[in-house]
Amino acid sequence: MNILLIGPQGCGKGTQASLLANHLDIPHISTGDIFRKNIALNTDLGKIVNNLVKKGELVPDDIVIEAVKSYLKNEQMFEFGFIMDGFPRTIYQAEKFEEFSDFDLVILIDVSDEVVIKRIVSRKTCPNCSKVYNTLTNPPKIKDRCDVCGQVLTIRADDNKESIQKRLESYHLQTKPLIDYYKKKGILRVVDGENSAEKVFEQIKENLVFG
Ligand code: AMP
Repeated sequence: MNILLIGPQGCGKGTQASLLANHLDIPHISTGDIFRKNIALNTDLGKIVNNLVKKGELVPDDIVIEAVKSYLKNEQMFEFGFIMDGFPRTIYQAEKFEEFSDFDLVILIDVSDEVVIKRIVSRKTCPNCSKVYNTLTNPPKIKDRCDVCGQVLTIRADDNKESIQKRLESYHLQTKPLIDYYKKKGILRVVDGENSAEKVFEQIKENLVFG
C-alpha cells in the first residue's frame, strides 16, 4: 500500500510517517531527508538544492520528481508499498508522479498555522536517523542526544522564523490545492493533528482500510 502523509511543516508528518512505516513494515520516504542527506554529503544534488532548502524555498519540480523517481527505482525495496512524506508539494508534482507510481491512501494531518509555528521553534532533529523531537512536548531522554542512535541533536537550518513563514506561504499557495485533488479521487482522509502524537497515530490507524 502506498500512503501519502500531507500537511504543513511541523504537523507531525515525519513522526507519524516513521511510526506508520514501523507499524506496516514498509519504508518511509521523505524528500526533505533525501535533500538534507545529499547536502550533508555534498553531492551534486546537494549542491544544487542547498540554498533553496536553507531558505525554505521549494526545490524546482523537475529536480524533485527526478530524485523521487530514481529513489523508487529499487522496486524490490518498495514491493509492499511505502509511506511518502513531503512529496508531492504541487499539483504538477502529483501529476508527474502518477506517470510512474500512485497512492492508495492520502492522510491529511490538519494543524493550524499558530500551532505549527509554536512546534517548529522548539523542534530538534537527529542528523543521523532523522528522528524528530520537541524540546517542550517530546524531549529526548538525555538532553540534546538522540534516544535511538545517541547522535547530538541539531536545529534544522531552515527552522528559523523567516524560512518558516516562507514554507507556510508555499504550503497554502502550492500544496493545499492537493487536498482537493486527492479528495476528488476519493482517497483523502483527514485526522486532527493538534492531538498528542499517540492520538494522531491512533486516528491514522483507524483510517487504514485493512486495520
Ligand atoms: P521537509 O523536510 O519536507 O520540510 O522539506 C525540507 C525542504 O526540502 C523544503 O523546505 C524544500 O526546500 C525541500 N523539499 C522537500 N520536498 C520537496 C518537494 N516535494 N518539492 C519541493 N521542495 C521540496
